[in-house]
Amino acid sequence: MTDSRYNVMIIGGGVVGLGVALEITRRFPHLRLLVLEKEDRVARHQSGHNSGVIHSGLYYKPGSLKARLCVSGAAAMVEFCREHGLPYEVCGKVVVATHADELPRLEELRKRGEANGLVGVRLIGPEEVKEIEPHAAGLKALLVPSTGITNYAVVCDKYAELISAHGATVLTSAAATGIKRLPNEIVVETTRGAFSTTALINCAGLYSDRISRLAGDEPGVMIVPFRGEYYDLVPERASLVRALIYPVPDPRFPFLGVHFTRRITGNVDAGPNAVLALAREGYRHRDINVRDLASALAFPGFWRMARQHWRNGLDEWHRSLSKPVFVRALQRLLPEVTEKDLVPGGSGVRAQALKPDGALVDDFQFVGSGKVLHVLNVPSPAATASLMIGKAIVDTAASDLGLS
Ligand SMILES: Cc1cc2nc3c(=O)[nH]c(=O)nc-3n(C[C@H](O)[C@H](O)[C@H](O)COP(=O)(O)OP(=O)(O)OC[C@H]3O[C@@H](n4cnc5c(N)ncnc54)[C@H](O)[C@@H]3O)c2cc1C
Repeated sequence: MTDSRYNVMIIGGGVVGLGVALEITRRFPHLRLLVLEKEDRVARHQSGHNSGVIHSGLYYKPGSLKARLCVSGAAAMVEFCREHGLPYEVCGKVVVATHADELPRLEELRKRGEANGLVGVRLIGPEEVKEIEPHAAGLKALLVPSTGITNYAVVCDKYAELISAHGATVLTSAAATGIKRLPNEIVVETTRGAFSTTALINCAGLYSDRISRLAGDEPGVMIVPFRGEYYDLVPERASLVRALIYPVPDPRFPFLGVHFTRRITGNVDAGPNAVLALAREGYRHRDINVRDLASALAFPGFWRMARQHWRNGLDEWHRSLSKPVFVRALQRLLPEVTEKDLVPGGSGVRAQALKPDGALVDDFQFVGSGKVLHVLNVPSPAATASLMIGKAIVDTAASDLGLS
């Protein structure tokens, strides 16, 4: 039995699902819209467990969705926070090269930043690094003035508040458990009853591939969970870091390397690493989910990825289990930091799409199928870009899903 009928339904109350919902309410205020979230509040997973950085768009391949939506999304995020009185700060960041062999990559990054239209990005020498971050090491650094910080859990609460104020519904504690595609409607069964809709958008983050299958589609990718663990600098040592200090990333991986981030609260954290998690919502080492593990091991791309990256994967686990090893990685950026300056912080789990050939999907990926749209890969900088991802998805949905 269907309780209610909607024009559009979104599965997932993270920053992406809510960003899409907000854009729908702005552009199509007359549509009946329902957002389903399985947890008891929004932003319980990636969107509430991240670094809180408003990325500038420095790293991404020019012309990619990530590059375009991050650069415009960062400006939109700053404007959104300003307009709604949410905490944010455009504090800038430095990407520091600590070995000579990183200098060519730093120059490559500078060119990327320029190609992506970033303003004010420039290479600086060690004296200027010391003026900006007195305790940081660095032969040279890239100064990125447009990078900022906020709190995406707070941003999500504001998105949800605006969506509800526009008359749409954000239903929490409502997990989608089944999807039936009928000729003129889609029925979504949930833990809070069944709802019918004309169009469905899957923004289920760590479960987006499973929701795709539930809707009768083959996603063509598997979501691999990579846990990111943080240490916090003890308050007495937080003054070691003024803003954000990043290493030069290894281009073979989609992650940025452990770095220092000043939070909008003033705390400083160090991390996140990127450890293959044994459960999709595996926030701790001991979290193991047999179904998640079995499906990963049965996916051919998993073994291909493992063959290619096993060495790095073991290094990440080693660094995760050994504080001294984690601290050594941080000392490259901040030589004065010691083990006693750091206490265990939180963690988050990234949803990263993996292809059957073992390659990690680099760009954002949205795939349509009839009146259903699957958002299959929206890793970092998706929180930064969420307002622009919302616009891009609603542009697609307006024609492909027939929203009008
Ligand atoms: C450690 C870490 C650090 C990061 N740092 C940054 C950063 O500094 N800046 C940045 O821009 N990005 C960052 N990111 C990336 C960013 O947080 C994510 O890209 C973004 O939050 C993805 O949003 P989402 O809505 O797709 O996913 P999520 O926030 O995971 O939301 C998906 C939602 O779907 C719900 N759901 C799943 N299955 C169902 C179901 N069956 N029924 C109903 N609901 C369901 C989940 O409960 C969840 O709330 C980071 C991510 C991590 C993990």
